[in-house]
Amino acid sequence: MKSEYICIVCPNGCELSVEYEGETMISCSGNRCQRGYRYAESMITDPMRSVTSSVLVEGGVMPLVSVRTSAPVSKKRMFDVVRAIKELKVQAPVARGQVLVSDVLGLGADIIATRTVEAKRSERRRLILRGK
Ligand code: SF4
Repeated sequence: MKSEYICIVCPNGCELSVEYEGETMISCSGNRCQRGYRYAESMITDPMRSVTSSVLVEGGVMPLVSVRTSAPVSKKRMFDVVRAIKELKVQAPVARGQVLVSDVLGLGADIIATRTVEAKRSERRRLILRGK
């Protein structure tokens, strides 16, 4: 089998042509370095993907905050990560870049917010009264 990939390890974005059989890579071309070779190999044996989704926000000016994984996770575990995200609920305010889950499912990636969601005015008053 043959596949084409864009290496995402560095900004060069080399176009990789890969020949493989099952989970065994036979050849790789187009890579400018060994990291690209290893990336191609990982795409054959255990492809990785970043996960993007959204999380429920309580007391926010918006009901959801967009999130993504801080690093790609194994494609085989993507749906587990999506499920973990769907079970999540956070309290406003949420800051862009805030880690909402550290090391999700032990996969070595965090779930981070990709935008800011301010607290509703009534929620801000409640947080101030509680000393937060
Ligand atoms: S093959 Fe090497 S140079 Fe090319 S994008 Fe991948 S890491 Fe960068």
